[in-house]
Amino acid sequence: MVDASRDRSLGWNVAGLLADGVGAARIFDIDDVTIALPEDLELAAPITGQVRLTRTNRGILVDARLATSLAGECARCLRPLTTPIEIELEEEYLPSIDLTSGRPLDIEAEPEALRLTDHHELDLEPSVRDAILLAEPIAPLDRPDCPGLCVVCGLPLDEGEHDHPDDDIDPRLEALKAFRPSE
Ligand SMILES: [Zn+2]
Ligand SMILES: [Zn+2]
Repeated sequence: MVDASRDRSLGWNVAGLLADGVGAARIFDIDDVTIALPEDLELAAPITGQVRLTRTNRGILVDARLATSLAGECARCLRPLTTPIEIELEEEYLPSIDLTSGRPLDIEAEPEALRLTDHHELDLEPSVRDAILLAEPIAPLDRPDCPGLCVVCGLPLDEGEHDHPDDDIDPRLEALKAFRPSE
């Protein structure tokens, strides 16, 4: 059995694992990892879970089970909310450099393949970032029946009173009513 080691990043040097031969594996407990996201996206919780790296006949197979949550706001009432995100990845990374000869491998032969760096490092962060972006909900709701905002006063409909008298409907009309010639 393989010992799990605690890890605070999503990158590993796998030179040792490559040298260990096909079938060798390492397990990493992912604990409290945070990554930057593009645009105005933000994680609401650190990334946790487990990553298993297995030496295949061609490279390193990644089997990742991760969880985090995204910060956002309700699409109807704009209250802040968090969306739990589960990530499952199974990807094979191929070397860029031949481990024994140290010579560059022909990367062009498989341009789509995921690659280890020239220093035999496996960087899982880009794949995890892509998975989080894919999992981002388009119109999240803080609850399924969220009634949204009141069109009259702009406050959430499930908070306070909204039986507004007709007079309140348009503040611009209200201003006009107050403007009366003084005869
Ligand atoms: Zn809402
Ligand atoms: Zn209202």
